[in-house]
Amino acid sequence: MRDYRNFYIDGQWVAPVDPKTADVINPATEAVAGTIALGSVADVNKAVAAARKAFPVWSETTREERLDLLKAIQAEYQRRLPDLGAAIREEMGAPSGLANGFHVGLGAGHLQTAIELLETFPFEELRGSTLIRREPIGVCALITPWNWPMNQTCVKVFPALATGCTMILKPPQLAPFSAQILAEILDAAGVPAGVFNMIQGQGSVIGTALSTHEDVDMVSFTGSEAVGVQIQQDAARTVKRVGLELGGKSAFIVLDDATLADNVAAATTGMMGNSGQTCSAGSRLLVPCARIDDALAVAKAAAEGVTVGDPAGEVAMGPVVSKAQYNIVQDYIAKGLEEGATLVAGGSGRPEGVERGWFVRPTVFLGTNDMVVAREEIFGPVLVIIPYADIDDAVAIANDSPFGLAGYVNGLDTDAVHAIARRLRTGWISMNGGFDFHAPFGGYKRSGNGREWGEFGFHEYLETKSMLGYA
Ligand code: NAP
Ligand code: MG
Repeated sequence: MRDYRNFYIDGQWVAPVDPKTADVINPATEAVAGTIALGSVADVNKAVAAARKAFPVWSETTREERLDLLKAIQAEYQRRLPDLGAAIREEMGAPSGLANGFHVGLGAGHLQTAIELLETFPFEELRGSTLIRREPIGVCALITPWNWPMNQTCVKVFPALATGCTMILKPPQLAPFSAQILAEILDAAGVPAGVFNMIQGQGSVIGTALSTHEDVDMVSFTGSEAVGVQIQQDAARTVKRVGLELGGKSAFIVLDDATLADNVAAATTGMMGNSGQTCSAGSRLLVPCARIDDALAVAKAAAEGVTVGDPAGEVAMGPVVSKAQYNIVQDYIAKGLEEGATLVAGGSGRPEGVERGWFVRPTVFLGTNDMVVAREEIFGPVLVIIPYADIDDAVAIANDSPFGLAGYVNGLDTDAVHAIARRLRTGWISMNGGFDFHAPFGGYKRSGNGREWGEFGFHEYLETKSMLGYA
């Protein structure tokens, strides 16, 4: 049982001003896995004051000083990998292999990327007679979701540290354990007092206090559209920069020349990974009409082959994060059946033989792009396969979405793959499995306005200053 009742403020573990707590549930067992404190506005004020006080010195540190610190953090992060993996398994039910692998690996990747970039990042640049300086924006509020807890946190914390910002992290109530360990890592690595602060608690309290705070310069948020809109409204009065990374309903396009067995199977199992709780999941699988029967057979076999069960074991999929998330996903499966989508695999309820834990059956529908299950982000292991007539039709279907986060295009004719990717109105497109920690990640349309990862992620935390008449 984890007991995390202290916050990390001004370089110290401190008790909350008001001793309110909440239980954290392990979604695989439905048992209480630990306790966190719920912060108040008074805690936020303390943390913001600490970050403000630390900013003048931290923002003036040299590149080398910040590199030394990031490398010390890296050593400590490596040492705590098993602890982080165990925390992620308990807090959100990720299978051990995934938690210890991709979950903690993504955080490590963002740390390594920040180090590589900081070695040479041009904070100053002469253009004509003008010196253009990139300076840290100031005190940043980092508000994160539960679905990839280390990825979402590290992709904010490390660029903010590297660029010379100070920060207050507000982790998700549903998955607060790994953030607590990250705070221990930063503390052990010697992050100066006030540079990094962390307060657990409710978004409606802590998040709102941060978004409206006079002394917070920037909010970086990853989460739902509704909360993103609220934060932007709350931040408007103090003219803060707001970076939003929101949801998606991304298309995975398999071209006519692709081998269905590999590509449809990979698309199906890929989207089921992390129980479908991935903002960039390829949750609409677009396949050529002429090959739909084969595609359905492959997807059915792939979905039925996804092993679901105790995340401590060797399974591909654990539960979804909570009872509330389970109910949302069940409602979408019911909605799909009601609106006439054809059930190809899975369906309502828990997998056979499972009585406890928020486990969902890996589910595949054949549907049309106007169905609710094809338009709304389900955030569960529910794939919708949509047939397309030709390339133009595939592009039109892919772009006919309120979201514009990601896209996937797989095929042998690379010219065709590139041409399609150019036409997609989304921010991040993986072609034939491409992956890159330095590639900017973020959405068009309702999927947000920010760009994280790599160099573009640094710019989220930087102001631009022109010094005219410099040369
Ligand atoms: P959420 O409900 O929007 O919560 C995200 C964070 O915001 C949590 O820490 C939450 O606190 C906090 N929050 C809630 N109300 C707030 C308010 N009024 N002001 C400030 N903060 C507030 O999202 P979620 O359910 O955790 O995550 C799922 C969503 O995130 C999905 O839509 C997914 O697509 C999106 N997502 C996007 C990306 C991306 O990079 N584009 C990546 C991952 C996830 P609590 O702890 O109280 O909930
Ligand atoms: Mg939530």
